[in-house]
Amino acid sequence: MHIVAIDGPAGSGKSSVSKACAKALDFGYLDTGAAYRALTYAILNLGLEVANRSAEEIKANFDYSISLDPQDYWVRVGELDVTYEIRNPSVGEVVSQFAGLPEVRRYMFTLTRELVLASGLTGVIVEGRDITTKVFPEAKTRILLTASEEVRLGRRSAELPEGTIVADQVTKRDQNDSKVVDFLMPAEGVILVDSSELDFDQTVSAVIELVVNK
Ligand code: C5P
Repeated sequence: MHIVAIDGPAGSGKSSVSKACAKALDFGYLDTGAAYRALTYAILNLGLEVANRSAEEIKANFDYSISLDPQDYWVRVGELDVTYEIRNPSVGEVVSQFAGLPEVRRYMFTLTRELVLASGLTGVIVEGRDITTKVFPEAKTRILLTASEEVRLGRRSAELPEGTIVADQVTKRDQNDSKVVDFLMPAEGVILVDSSELDFDQTVSAVIELVVNK
């Protein structure tokens, strides 16, 4: 299985670039941030408790599923489809708080590895914050996708309803997240792709080239 690990900060374009590359390569696509968001959604809305819980207890109480098909993306908690709800700013505002809990990260580590390794796919693009360094350090292709802060903020605001103020949320989330994992500097063996000066198609081509040349 060709595992492609892609990390990067909020608004780096990881999700849309990873999805487009997966489609072009006929690979699976796993958005690992969706699990942190769905967990946060379940804490806020479905009474899930994670404080003082072990990774095993979290697993037993959180019925999570996600599609690895880049043509048909969905996220569910139990029978509930939360694909769109997890993008809500109310989730984005507090997700880092739960992502910083060691037992949550331990649960996510096992979940992510199981989802990928049990998929039976020939290749999977796995994107997040700690995939190149912690979850799949053995991935065949490891990429850190970045862009300048200005470009990232611009891309995030283009995704949200007009007038939404994103600067605080994105910058603060990156600051909080980077206390837990370093996704701003490439680790040894990780290739840096800076998309500040590239448009979407150029970024997708750059990533595909790295994958096929492996
Ligand atoms: O990728 P996305 O912005 O949707 O991720 C939401 C949040 O999930 C991040 O801000 C971070 O707190 C957490 N996360 C993480 N490790 C990952 C993926 C996401 O801590 N691999």
